[in-house]
Amino acid sequence: MNKEINLTIKPRYIKAYHDGYPLITKESIVDWNRVSDEGTIVNLLDDRKKFIVKGYYGKQNKGYGWVLTSKKDENIDVSYFIRKIKSAIKYREDFYSNKNTTVFRVFNGEGDGIGGLTIDYFNGFYLVTWYSIGIYAFKEDILEALRRSVEYKGIYQKKRFDTKGQYLDDADDFVCGNRAESPLIVKENRANFAIYLDDGAMVGVFLDQREVRKTIRDKYAKGKTVLNTFSYTGAFSVFAALGAATKTTSVDLANRSRSKTQEQFSINNIDVESQDIIVEDVFNYFKYAVRKKLSFDLVVLDPPSFARSKKHTFSAAKDYVKLLKEAIQITNKGGVIVASTNASNFDMQKFRDFISKAFKELNGEYSIEETFSLPKDFRVMDKFREGDYLKVVFIRKVG
Ligand code: SAH
Repeated sequence: MNKEINLTIKPRYIKAYHDGYPLITKESIVDWNRVSDEGTIVNLLDDRKKFIVKGYYGKQNKGYGWVLTSKKDENIDVSYFIRKIKSAIKYREDFYSNKNTTVFRVFNGEGDGIGGLTIDYFNGFYLVTWYSIGIYAFKEDILEALRRSVEYKGIYQKKRFDTKGQYLDDADDFVCGNRAESPLIVKENRANFAIYLDDGAMVGVFLDQREVRKTIRDKYAKGKTVLNTFSYTGAFSVFAALGAATKTTSVDLANRSRSKTQEQFSINNIDVESQDIIVEDVFNYFKYAVRKKLSFDLVVLDPPSFARSKKHTFSAAKDYVKLLKEAIQITNKGGVIVASTNASNFDMQKFRDFISKAFKELNGEYSIEETFSLPKDFRVMDKFREGDYLKVVFIRKVG
C-alpha cells in the first residue's frame, strides 16, 4: 500500500487545481517538507482543510507529481487503474480496428488521467513506460490493471527515471506473456517498421510523427530529392522513398543509425544502395553541402530539443533559427522544409517566429503549406497545453 498524506495548497494556487490543472508543483504547496517518499498519495486541501484533489508524489522534470482524481473517496487501486485504462482504450477504438496501422499510443500520461505513465501498442504487445520513481511505486497495480483490461501477446516496460532523467538500461525489459520476435515488424499506414522492444531506451520509431510521415509520402515526395537530418532510423526517409522520391539522404551522428536505417529500407523493399546514409554531425554536413553545391527539394529537420555533440551544443529554443538558416541555403527554390520540434518550452507561435526570423535574416520568402501537432492517440488535456509539445511546419521556400 502506498502511504497517504494531507497537504495544504497555497491560496493563490487553489483555483488552478480546482479547475483541473494536473501538474503538482512544490511551490504551490505550503508543507511539502512533510512528504518523504515518491509514490506517496497526496490529498491537496485548501486553507480551510477542504479537499480539492488527490494525486501522487513523483519527480519528473520540474514537477513534483500529478493529480489523479478530484473525487475525495476515489481510491487509487487496481480498479481505479482499470477504469482509466479502459476509457483510454475506448477513445482509441478506431486504432485497434485499423489493419494498416498496428502501432499506436494507448495511454498518454496526464492526457488520459495519469501523468508519468505511457502505454504503447505494437501489434499485440504493450510497452509501459514509467517516468518517475513515484509512478513506478504503483507498478504492481498498474500492470495488474493492464493485464485485466486487454488481450496481449506480451508486456514490456521501460524506466525513464533517475536523477538526470536518463534511461535506466535494465538487463531485461520483458514483463510477462510471450516475448516478441526481435525485430518485431509492425505497420504504419501500410509501411513496415522494425521494432526492438528490449534494446535500450528507444524502440526504433517515434509514433507521434505518423501523420507527418504519411503527408511526406502521399503529398510531397514524388520525384523529389530528400535530405533527412537527425534521421535516427530513417523513418522519414523510408516514407519519402515509398512516396517515389528520386533519392533520400539521411544524416545522423549516431553510428547505429546506418545499420538501423538500412534495415528499415530493406523491410520495405527499398533498394538501400540507391539511398545515401551518412553518419556525421548535421552541422558539418551543412558546411559540406554548401561547399559541394548540393541542394535538395525536400529537407526534414527533426532535432532533439537538446543535444550535445563533440563540437556543438544544440538547444531548440536557442538554436532553431540557425538550423533553419543552414537548411534554407541548401533547399531548392520552390522546395519544402519540414521543420519539426518536440521542445515543450516554446509554443507554435514562437516556432513560427523562428521561421520568420530565419527567412528575414536571409532576405528569403516563404509560405506555410501546413502544420501538425500531436495525433489523436497522443491525447492532451485542455488544462495542460504544455503536454501538446509537437510542432511541425511544412514551409515552402518561395524565393
Ligand atoms: N527524426 C527522427 C528522430 C530524431 S531523434 C525520426 O523521425 O525517427 C534525434 C536524433 O538526432 C538521434 O538519432 C541523434 O543521434 C541525432 N543527433 C543529435 N545531435 C545530432 C547532430 N549534431 N548531428 C546529427 N545527428 C544528431
